[in-house]
Amino acid sequence: MMNAYIQRVLTEIKKKNINEPEFLQTVEEVYSSLDMMVNKHPEYEKIGLLERMAEPERTISFRVTWVDDAGRVQVNRGYRVQFNGAIGPYKGGIRFHPSVNLSIMKFLGFEQTFKNSLTSLPIGGAKGGSDFDPRGKSDGEVMRFCQAFMNELYRHIGPDIDVPAGDIGVGTHEIGYLYGQYRRIRGAFENGVLTGKGFSYGGSRIRPEATGYGAVYYVSEIFEHENDRMDGKTFALSGFGNVAWGVAKKLEELGAKAITLSGPDGYIYDPAGVTGKKIEYMLEMRNSGRDKVKDYSDRFGCAFYPGEKPWGVKADVYMPCATQNDVNLLSAKKIMSSGSKYYIEVANMPTTSDALSLLLGQKNMIVAPSKAVNAGGVATSALEMSQNSMRLSWSEQEVDEKLHAIMKKIHDSSAMAAEANGLGYNLVAGANIAGFAKVADAMIAQGLI
Ligand code: GLU
Repeated sequence: MMNAYIQRVLTEIKKKNINEPEFLQTVEEVYSSLDMMVNKHPEYEKIGLLERMAEPERTISFRVTWVDDAGRVQVNRGYRVQFNGAIGPYKGGIRFHPSVNLSIMKFLGFEQTFKNSLTSLPIGGAKGGSDFDPRGKSDGEVMRFCQAFMNELYRHIGPDIDVPAGDIGVGTHEIGYLYGQYRRIRGAFENGVLTGKGFSYGGSRIRPEATGYGAVYYVSEIFEHENDRMDGKTFALSGFGNVAWGVAKKLEELGAKAITLSGPDGYIYDPAGVTGKKIEYMLEMRNSGRDKVKDYSDRFGCAFYPGEKPWGVKADVYMPCATQNDVNLLSAKKIMSSGSKYYIEVANMPTTSDALSLLLGQKNMIVAPSKAVNAGGVATSALEMSQNSMRLSWSEQEVDEKLHAIMKKIHDSSAMAAEANGLGYNLVAGANIAGFAKVADAMIAQGLI
């Protein structure tokens, strides 16, 4: 029986955010892990902690006007949701994708709050973006869009206020244009305002690889827990962007291999493994802006399955690295019947809620949640902020060691939190509890704001 306060809050939040399904799903998922904790802390109800935690501190929506190559005026909608600043400056990525809307921004900002808390670094949670579609746009159009976006965003951000970074559709290239415009408007070299920058103007070593590397470091902690070995294992991945690239690279280094990749057009199956030059080709595919994974099979002669997802392929580990709602109930059933015991979320909310309940209900299955698994990206962003404020730069090895230690700590603190709440090795609930605890403490200490 769920705690009565949690139940009441969930009902209220449902009423209040009726048109925001992704946001509701995330709040429900997080709050339903907090039963024991809320039972132990009756004071949460008196200070309305759960209600406050589910309401962004600030939601900014703005007009972005730019001119395309044909001289036509284009209007997009921009967002920045500054969800929770209790433990540090707001921090989180910017996404440029046609699917961007308020519900998606809020779910991502809510998740980011707990993810950032889990990293053990001082960063609050935020998310931003636009419904701008970078696909098929010229470089000049992308630059003008980024400049127009920053013309409004600059007044809401700063190295001690809010520090955006990349996400889907926003990589180092776009961050460069965004920073250039920020610098022009502010008339100051405040490079700590954005992370994921190019190395020549303050970017961190390992930041491009960090989300993928971090995910694999996290998986190796699970393997250690299970007395299992990484070498020789096959991994089914979805996506073919920056995250899947980093995962494939680190897997190869550890003697394991990625055997699938996917795009909006279908998936490729490469039983020999996405290794060596094929990994570098992923960057070329991404930079072409075509958004087609079939290019990989054309180049390397492996199988391509149009319009399908890779979840029916037999693999030792399943890692959705693409975007939300990638694994539905049918896909989850296929994954279960593969005999694999590892389901590792990497993208944010890749699993539909019915599919997730099914997977979580399997005794022999270990499910790891994205907010822990993909936290290496934002953690390395926080390391970038540290380097910027000290005006120095750490070597590849220094950053990688710190990232590795952070991922181990995230795994261990999640496992411990679950154990302490009588939930066994439940990494999903553990991440929610551990992430929540620090933000809750800070909010309580700071009074009603
Ligand atoms: N977009 C990434 C995330 O969702 C990175 C955010 C950041 O580096 O601030 O965590």
